[in-house]
Amino acid sequence: MMNKILPVAIIGGGPVGIAAAAHLVKRNEAFILFESGKEIGTNFLDYGHVRLFSPWEYNIDEAAKELLLKHHISLPPKDELPLGEEIVFKYLKPLSQLPEMKPYIHMNSRVLHVGKKGFDKVKTKGRDQAPFILRVKVDNKEEKIYEAKAVIDATGTWQNPNPLNAEGLITDNEKRVSDQIYYGIPDVLNRDKDRYKNKTVAVVGSGHSAINTMLDLTQLKEQTENTEIIWILRKQDITEVFRGEGNDQLPARGQLGTRLRNVLNNGEIKAYPSMFIESISLASGGKLNILGHRQQEQKMINNIDEIIANTGARPDFQFLKEIRHTFDSALECVPDLADLIDPNIHSCGTVRPHGEKELRQPEKNFYIIGSKSYGRAPTFLLATGYEQARSVVAYITGDKESAERVELKLPETGVCKLTPKPSAAKTSCCCD
Ligand SMILES: Cc1cc2nc3c(=O)[nH]c(=O)nc-3n(C[C@H](O)[C@H](O)[C@H](O)COP(=O)(O)OP(=O)(O)OC[C@H]3O[C@@H](n4cnc5c(N)ncnc54)[C@H](O)[C@@H]3O)c2cc1C
Repeated sequence: MMNKILPVAIIGGGPVGIAAAAHLVKRNEAFILFESGKEIGTNFLDYGHVRLFSPWEYNIDEAAKELLLKHHISLPPKDELPLGEEIVFKYLKPLSQLPEMKPYIHMNSRVLHVGKKGFDKVKTKGRDQAPFILRVKVDNKEEKIYEAKAVIDATGTWQNPNPLNAEGLITDNEKRVSDQIYYGIPDVLNRDKDRYKNKTVAVVGSGHSAINTMLDLTQLKEQTENTEIIWILRKQDITEVFRGEGNDQLPARGQLGTRLRNVLNNGEIKAYPSMFIESISLASGGKLNILGHRQQEQKMINNIDEIIANTGARPDFQFLKEIRHTFDSALECVPDLADLIDPNIHSCGTVRPHGEKELRQPEKNFYIIGSKSYGRAPTFLLATGYEQARSVVAYITGDKESAERVELKLPETGVCKLTPKPSAAKTSCCCD
């Protein structure tokens, strides 16, 4: 029989994992949270210099807000746009230090394996009653075992970046030149300035991360004489990258597109649309050659000093091998979300709010939430994750009515090119 006093285990101390903890506190339910990094919100610190496009109003979870206010911790102005590091130091860290949270948060604790006590994946009879078992590597040394009555996986995707190779394969030649590839958003104007100034830098990708990287590089180019920026993207139509611009309900998100349009018009970036990368090789003088194809023809881009990969990220399922979980075969997202977020179907980031019902997995009381629930799809918003956390926690704690209620109105992107999939259930987005 399941021990009643077992806690709910949360894996990942990003904003969504922490929000789940705040909702469990609100409902008086015991929890334990494991974060692999040495700081809460580790992934936001990786791009701490990047200004978010959504203001504080959308970046703070409601249960977290209540908890902070209960302890008289003031909230940042709701219309201000925080930097990545401010999400950690002005919100997540103060929240995680509160007496209701701190004792139950384990830092430097990487979950290596989740299973069911006494059950491998195949065994069914009595499975639902067995506790979950989590194997956790602490301080990169000892391994500890914990039991839990439910598990919420909020580990994100940021730490598993997609490769440069257009087929999504992690090739040996890409690994060989990895010293000259940065997967993420380097701080090219400060911390990483010496690495990029007066260099020829290729940025690969077409999402918000790539735009942020290129806008910073154009500032570096203005400050230095010989910095060159090359942009490689698979999209044929560059204007798609500008997205909603003035129609976006998050103005700062819209402005990213407008600012990119301006620097392209000024000729500050040399763009290669429709370019699919096949391989990268080291040439003489330590330069890189990028080989790919454009419109059926081979194309080589030479003399690159540095590559910045902004090609998205993918979820890690390694530690879930003994858990019965499913994912969409294309996006690797939670299956019921696929039609809502599939970039093949609609191009906007406007997603119908959803909760426990859509997130339910074959393993009872196991959930994937947060950016990992979107798999490889790029359009995740914090506000979506907070609603997921609220609904899943309501369900786990027996409040089915609240779990089913939708309590979210998301700002729309103001752009959607809908290509309905014949088999798809009716999708709801800004188009209808
Ligand atoms: C550059 C950038 C800008 C963004 N800007 C916005 C914005 O303006 N507005 C918005 O709403 N959204 C924005 N997002 C999207 C989204 O809000 C973030 O990606 C957010 O970090 C997702 O939160 P999360 O809690 O799901 O995952 P994460 O923040 O990625 O947190 C996952 C946590 O899990 C930990 N972890 C991973 N594996 C393990 C393990 N095995 N064991 C223990 N811990 C583990 C990690 O260390 C990490 O702390 C942005 C994303 C990026 C990349």
